[in-house]
Amino acid sequence: MARRALPPALAGLEPKIVWKHFADLLRIPRCSGNEAGVRAHLEKFAKSKHLKAERDDAGNLLLRVRPEAPGPVVCLQGHMDMVGVAADGVQHDWTADPVTPRRDGDFIYAEGTTLGADNGIGLAFAMAMVDEQTGPLEILCTVDEEVGLTGASAMKPNWLQAKFLVNLDSEEESSLTVACSGGRDMVVTLPWPRAARTDGRETVAIRVKGLRGGHSGIDINKGRSNANQVLGRVLAEVARLGGALHEVAGGVKRNAIAPNANAVVSLPAGKGDELKAAAEQIQRECATASDPDLSIETAPGQTDLPPVAAEASERLVRLLEKLPHGVLKSTSHNPDLPFVSINLALINVVDDKLTVIMSGRSPVAGELDALETRARAIAAEHGATFKTENGYPGWAPNYDSPLLAITKRCYEQQFGRPPTLLEIHAGLECGIIGSKHPGLDMISIGPDLHNPHSPQEHVSISSAQRMYKLVKDLVAELQRS
Ligand SMILES: [Zn+2]
Repeated sequence: MARRALPPALAGLEPKIVWKHFADLLRIPRCSGNEAGVRAHLEKFAKSKHLKAERDDAGNLLLRVRPEAPGPVVCLQGHMDMVGVAADGVQHDWTADPVTPRRDGDFIYAEGTTLGADNGIGLAFAMAMVDEQTGPLEILCTVDEEVGLTGASAMKPNWLQAKFLVNLDSEEESSLTVACSGGRDMVVTLPWPRAARTDGRETVAIRVKGLRGGHSGIDINKGRSNANQVLGRVLAEVARLGGALHEVAGGVKRNAIAPNANAVVSLPAGKGDELKAAAEQIQRECATASDPDLSIETAPGQTDLPPVAAEASERLVRLLEKLPHGVLKSTSHNPDLPFVSINLALINVVDDKLTVIMSGRSPVAGELDALETRARAIAAEHGATFKTENGYPGWAPNYDSPLLAITKRCYEQQFGRPPTLLEIHAGLECGIIGSKHPGLDMISIGPDLHNPHSPQEHVSISSAQRMYKLVKDLVAELQRS
């Protein structure tokens, strides 16, 4: 391949082969959905090394490196796409412009944009390992990781011959990732018929707001309030006061803890103050240390919609009382890590139907099945229909894994301390790739990488050097095993 001078920010960094490949990747625009250029670059690299490169229908790429070499095949895996975000005021054409690296002490940033070390540094590691002339290796480069793991999802099954897979998309040197959650969305639908209007009532708008919200996997164990549940308590008070529900909506997206929820109700004349007092009481109870800014506003409102039939709104109140939210089980070895959780994400009304959407997570499919059974039963009890959507497989931890034992040994030899073992409560490509390759022994590692998906993204130079050595030692050990 053509030799080019390294950009000044990367000059002199070790290991040279890693940073050379990383520099090449920085020149190629590669946001999700636009991986043709980076794939062509990898295919050209494969050709220059006389390697077989295979592409599947989804656009994922697999390089087979010295398959005839002795020892078990080790797959090194990363994703080709990146998240392209430019800082305010920075013009960047993500289909044409290169990313310009900038060095600050031990860190490489980009000038005004995301760096794409997520996952460019992982790909650079894998390419450098090809240069090391070891084998047998498989280099698996996926597309569209950043847009819901869809490249891995569409990957052809049993493509790999590898016995071990090392995913290079983790972001903390101190830990090895050994599991990730699978997920399943659950949709509960209530009939939402309208009734006749009653005259002489006061209309009140209810706004639950100021909650922290957060990611439904990573932040679910932080004890935060859920605006949909808070609104449910207020709606129970509305029902107690003889009120009727006209409008209701809550949450922002499936993978976010609901930070806000709203309703418009009508009350018998003179009951507005009672509702206000009840809302203030609920606000005092819910605005805890985890959500100090939670507020529940009740104000004179307006609506063009007639009230919802009393039976339907009562069912919604009961549903919001019964449907679970939060961490339901923790992992056996760490009470801080969620093992099974569910997010009561969204309340939506479309035409004459109301839907409540929840997203469940667990590394173990049987746990998601049990959660689904429970939610389905609650839905049935309240006259609602139930369906699941968007399921993806998890990666259950295997603490007896030979790959884990060898990785821990290499890690302790190099760092002089044991690694933390991380079970991520969010989806990773390992879950999906593992489901297509039964028995594949997997781990996920990577150098310290901060603020991914933002213009502040930066990767540690010294950590990349240490973690590349770990990968090299690990592959050598595995091939001796
Ligand atoms: Zn990534």
